[in-house]
Amino acid sequence: MTQLTPARVLEAGGRLATESARFASYGWMRGTSGNLSEVVTRDPLRLAVTASGLDKGELTPADVAVVDPKGEPVTVEGVAPLRPSAEAGLHARVAAVTGADAVVHVHALNSVLAGHRWPGGVHLRDIETLKGIGRLAHDDEVVFPVISNSQDMGELGDRFEAAYDPRTPAVIVANHGLYTWGTDLVHARHVTECVEWLLAYALATA
Ligand SMILES: [Zn+2]
Repeated sequence: MTQLTPARVLEAGGRLATESARFASYGWMRGTSGNLSEVVTRDPLRLAVTASGLDKGELTPADVAVVDPKGEPVTVEGVAPLRPSAEAGLHARVAAVTGADAVVHVHALNSVLAGHRWPGGVHLRDIETLKGIGRLAHDDEVVFPVISNSQDMGELGDRFEAAYDPRTPAVIVANHGLYTWGTDLVHARHVTECVEWLLAYALATA
């Protein structure tokens, strides 16, 4: 069982900083928006999440906070306590419900546009890139759920759980952005890249 050590948290912080910089370079973390997380321990559930209010293109491994299943900060001796993102509670909920070990949240414009256009969910089928999210390239009806936004992470978590389909590793939050998840941060990035591409394709071909 992995232990909640400072070294483990800072290792996760390094991966979160690297992936955040890449997403920022895509223009998906404008301002200080968006956040990434990685499960550090499963029992009890603890996540390393990017700290609040920082430029996601310039994070260091120490720009990390550790949170519990409610998104509340957990003190780890040897790690300077930083304020976690307000959205950390939804990251923890996603990790708990899906079993994913990494969660990505970005404000990619195409996710917001697609959520606006199809508030009941974004439907896709028969397109090769669906294989990148673990679905089939043919005869597989994929729906990206769209849930309404809230500043209350408990409420948003309930909406996520109600809309969750284990076959689809993404949810759009209307007028806000996109949550995706994967077995690790690199997998979660691949999923995010494919979902964003699929949403751009849906918008362009509608
Ligand atoms: Zn957000």
